[in-house]
Amino acid sequence: MAEERWIAETLFEELGFRLTFKVDKVLYEVQTKHQHLVLFQNPFFGKMLMLDGATQITKKDEFIYQEMMSHTPLFAHGNARDVLIIGGGDCGIAEEVLKHKTVRRLTQVEIDPAVIEFSKEHFSEFTKPVFADKRFESVIDDGMKYVARTERRFDVIIVDSTDPQGPGKVLFSRRFYAACKRCLNKGGVLVTQNGVPIFQPSELTSSVTKFRKLFADGFCYVAAIPTYLGGHMAMGWATDNKKLRQVPTKTIAARYRKAGSFPTKYWTPEVHAAAFALPRFIAETVAKAARA
Ligand code: SAM
Repeated sequence: MAEERWIAETLFEELGFRLTFKVDKVLYEVQTKHQHLVLFQNPFFGKMLMLDGATQITKKDEFIYQEMMSHTPLFAHGNARDVLIIGGGDCGIAEEVLKHKTVRRLTQVEIDPAVIEFSKEHFSEFTKPVFADKRFESVIDDGMKYVARTERRFDVIIVDSTDPQGPGKVLFSRRFYAACKRCLNKGGVLVTQNGVPIFQPSELTSSVTKFRKLFADGFCYVAAIPTYLGGHMAMGWATDNKKLRQVPTKTIAARYRKAGSFPTKYWTPEVHAAAFALPRFIAETVAKAARA
């Protein structure tokens, strides 16, 4: 009988622990130019993608992160026409963004074409509708280079990156955030995948410190995502419009109705508002961020 295979998430091994997932079947494994990529079938979580030993997406709970990283900034903004995703190779967030009919154009800048290619085969539920949508533009590039150079301007920038390691490291730099600010239209908002504060507090403090040096409002909001081990996951929030994260629930609900109240499994107008009510230890992590 073939030896059972378990794959370890090694993101937190310097904290003294790993999380291992049983492998029913490896669907795709490759060392790309940028990172180690493995896609495998797990008995409970279904299809799981890992990049450089960090869980990126699982079929079981992808909806939580993807809905919160897309609907929260878009419904807070209220009239986003041009949206930019940095990273996002599996196209799960792109699929959520395109549910907003106000969005005229969605550009996704992914550094690793291998992630897109295998997503077309293994996450076609996301990639099919996205690549069929005329509003969608896929760019293969380093997100840092793109935001430093582009003449385009955006209402919402979503950084759906890996963790600050390998090619993802630059997406947590002040240089990158400043370049994102340059590309934001007036009143625009930048949201970022910003780790799990209980294990990565300095990652959150560091991002919010940089946000506050560049924007009028640097904050975060949270969601509990089972496979991003550690309870709440933080999503960074940076904008010059301080009111954006305080839009009343009834306004968010009205915008959701106007958008057609498309089905969601996690995001709701009430969850949207509650996501900015930070547990005290996370509020204190954010408060540590230097005032501009
Ligand atoms: N949802 C996942 C999470 O929260 O961990 C991340 C989704 S997606 C798989 C992350 C993507 O960021 C990967 O496809 C990776 O190739 C891409 N990426 C990493 N560094 C990048 C960079 N500098 N520019 C553009 N894309 C980058």
